[in-house]
Amino acid sequence: MEKECVACGKKPLSKDTIGINKKMLGKGIANFYCMNCLADYLGCTVDDLLDKIEEFKAEGCSLFQ
Ligand SMILES: [Zn+2]
Repeated sequence: MEKECVACGKKPLSKDTIGINKKMLGKGIANFYCMNCLADYLGCTVDDLLDKIEEFKAEGCSLFQ
């Protein structure tokens, strides 16, 4: 099933977006945010999140493969 942003309804959410949601909010979460809403929710910027995604990818995190 396609995931959509729980805050603004944007869909589909990319695999990277879903991965960073799980990283920041916990693997067991049922609701997902798009990049903009997640940044808003966490009080950071979308660029911060993109940096983190690159970091996790560099670490070989399985959520981003
Ligand atoms: Zn959103």
